[in-house]
Amino acid sequence: MKIGILGLGLIGGSLGWDLRSQGHHVLGVSRRESTCSKAIALGSVSEASVDLNLLSAADVVFICTPLGLIIPKFEELIPYLSPSTIVTDVGSVKAPIVKALSPLWHNFIGGHPMAGSTDNGIEARESNLFVNKPYVLTPISTTPTYAVEVVEKIVRSLGANIYHCHPEQHDRAVSWISHLPVMVSGSLIAACMSETDSEVLELAKKFASSGFRDTSRVGGGNPELGLMMARFNREALLNSLQQYRHKLDDLINIIDQEDWTTLEEKLKLNHKARPDFME
Ligand code: NAP
Repeated sequence: MKIGILGLGLIGGSLGWDLRSQGHHVLGVSRRESTCSKAIALGSVSEASVDLNLLSAADVVFICTPLGLIIPKFEELIPYLSPSTIVTDVGSVKAPIVKALSPLWHNFIGGHPMAGSTDNGIEARESNLFVNKPYVLTPISTTPTYAVEVVEKIVRSLGANIYHCHPEQHDRAVSWISHLPVMVSGSLIAACMSETDSEVLELAKKFASSGFRDTSRVGGGNPELGLMMARFNREALLNSLQQYRHKLDDLINIIDQEDWTTLEEKLKLNHKARPDFME
């Protein structure tokens, strides 16, 4: 199959690498010539160009640009596609994208691989990035069954676990487990940096170990991704942040009142609930 990838960064480069290793002919388009050359040299694509025309031969196109460019780049791509081309995207927010693209392209199905890294760009690409990771597809009532089946088959071949849901449900769910953590983890780093005693701050930096590494990882990632999550999933993220603030206020009160029994109950509930999110 000829598979097109628009946007050769972490996700596009990783996707291309796995698809090529399965024998697909991968056509890559990116913004910079240097990225196209690197993508070929690194084995992520069979051919690459900065010209969208390269994608006219693709049976399926994955749009892997930054979130804010998915809609405008797809609009630019339309004249180059044949009506039978199936188009999907990998954007971290689904409702605004599905709402904008579905009326423009019959054979469009939204998607979101729940896999990534804090690095970005083609050099950050990884093989088997999607293995055993959730990959959410958000077909709507007008999405052709054939388009769903073709994209599912490709996604399954990456070793990912496929889930289907409505775009809005997707956005609310990822707000809890992806977008809120980015903001909370970022606030953790910012709070640490607000320490006014420079000696204490230096000690904190030296003492930081696995706990801080785990809890600060997503907050210290690609700023563009966090910005796009907030811009495109604003409503759901605001709701999650407000709920989180209530939980923090509860904790502050409990600790202020030295109510250790209630604190212990809450910590026990968290301990019990976490595995449900991990399995
Ligand atoms: P990334 O590493 O920054 O890659 C995006 C690539 O898009 C860049 O390498 C850039 O290539 C290219 N690009 C930028 N402007 C372009 C344009 N005008 N035309 C064509 N290509 C252009 O970002 P990413 O992490 O792969 O994220 C890509 C998408 O995946 C986003 O929509 C994001 O929501 C989604 N996603 C990300 C993650 C994650 O954890 N990172 C997880 C799941 C989904 P050049 O080098 O040529 O400029």
